[in-house]
Amino acid sequence: MMAQGLTSAVYIAASILFILSLSGLSHQESARRGNLFGIAGMAIAICATLLASTPTSYALVLGVMAVGGAAGSTLAARVEMTAMPQLVAILHSFVGLAAVLVGFGSFLDPATKFEGAEKVVHDVEVFLGVLIGAVTFTGSVAAFGKLQGILHSRPLMLPGRHLINLAIGLACIWLGVLFVGADSSMSALWPLLIMTGLAFVFGLHMVLAIGGADMPVVISMLNSYSGWAAAATGFMLANDLLIVTGALVGSSGAILSYIMCRAMNRRFLSVILGGFGGETSTSGGAAIEAEAVAVSVDETVQLLSEAKSVVIVPGYGMAVAHAQHPVSELVKSLKERGVETRFAIHPVAGRMPGHMNVLLAEARVPYDVVLEMDEINSDLPDTDVVLVIGANDIVNPAAQDEPNSPIAGMPVLEVWKAKTTIILKRSMATGYAGVDNPLFYRDNSRMLFGDAKESISAVLSAL
Ligand code: NDP
Repeated sequence: MMAQGLTSAVYIAASILFILSLSGLSHQESARRGNLFGIAGMAIAICATLLASTPTSYALVLGVMAVGGAAGSTLAARVEMTAMPQLVAILHSFVGLAAVLVGFGSFLDPATKFEGAEKVVHDVEVFLGVLIGAVTFTGSVAAFGKLQGILHSRPLMLPGRHLINLAIGLACIWLGVLFVGADSSMSALWPLLIMTGLAFVFGLHMVLAIGGADMPVVISMLNSYSGWAAAATGFMLANDLLIVTGALVGSSGAILSYIMCRAMNRRFLSVILGGFGGETSTSGGAAIEAEAVAVSVDETVQLLSEAKSVVIVPGYGMAVAHAQHPVSELVKSLKERGVETRFAIHPVAGRMPGHMNVLLAEARVPYDVVLEMDEINSDLPDTDVVLVIGANDIVNPAAQDEPNSPIAGMPVLEVWKAKTTIILKRSMATGYAGVDNPLFYRDNSRMLFGDAKESISAVLSAL
């Protein structure tokens, strides 16, 4: 068994690697390095924990790790980029479930004997750990269902839903008091079990009540919850590294939720209370009577070859079509012709934070032409051609013009201000928020219908 001092030193080293990992992951250029730091930190942490503890059987631990590792690496190797968000959601659910199981394990373990104040502290740790874990578990399963398309993205609006949440919250506090004050394990078990059931319902209800357009906030929020669930597990197991790591994930997830809320111009509380986005398949505003104008590949090529500046707005459809590689080729080709070509990235484009950046990095698009929404929105009026590739909600003027729209107030890329906007998509269908897009009917808008990869490849060969 490893000495306590050595274990602590190794844990500190692992924590530092995790911090370096997080800072690396915050920039595209250093993301790969950040990932390596994270892997190294986790490898060291697992080895130190194994050496510092005395499991009943190392063979069992290693066997279970081999099964989990094989399942995880097979899934990760096979997953499509478009299915990444739901994979992340389901992984968050595992952290939540683990916290629930560790909580019950720690409570039922006859070896854990605490007295007086120590017992109270341990009981509170168990109760909170199970509570956060249970909410994270069912919340993440619901998020998985919505992202996978098994559940509808429309918000579930139960009558009196705020009252239901409030009642569950108050009941959990009361059950917590009963649990901590119970004089025997048997009488403490019931409040714990009932609270777990209520927390499962709460997690499910909380995420089901949130509409499609607000899902980015939910994903980052569940990321944060999974961190706090891990930290709670760390307290229960008296493992310092798990507490530190959980707190790092919890707080970085909270910061991400804040960034996502700002990107969508929403208040965190109003997102959590639910009900925004995806109510209907119409905009909820003025009926659209104009007709959209379709263009051919040749007309698109004509417009592009006359342009001096081009901005590309990628969205979820680029990921679905796997169009990032031909898009990268198109940028190269336009650059060679002296056309200034840049990307405009909306913070919630795609289905997960940084989705478009990952795809463009994969296709080796240089970072310096990839700009954030705030950096490029003011340049759009001076742009000759904007190519909207499989994006919809993030370029919807209804967010500014229609106060009753489910996406009202969300900042969008103002692509309609460019000289010509060409929208590449397969049909007139709505995006994830289920809201009609008046952009398609503007005078300077042109629709290039078809799969984005096929359309871009055709444009590329005609250029
Ligand atoms: P949208 O979902 O609004 O629109 C995507 C568009 O792509 C669709 O209208 C679809 O139209 C088109 N499309 C789909 N497949 C193809 C294809 N093969 N070729 C060409 N076009 C295709 O995506 P945006 O990126 O504009 O917006 C993201 C939305 O997702 C926002 O509402 C955001 O809130 C939400 N969201 C974002 C998350 C994040 O963290 N970034 C997480 C969860 C949700 P058609 O079917 O006609 O082809």
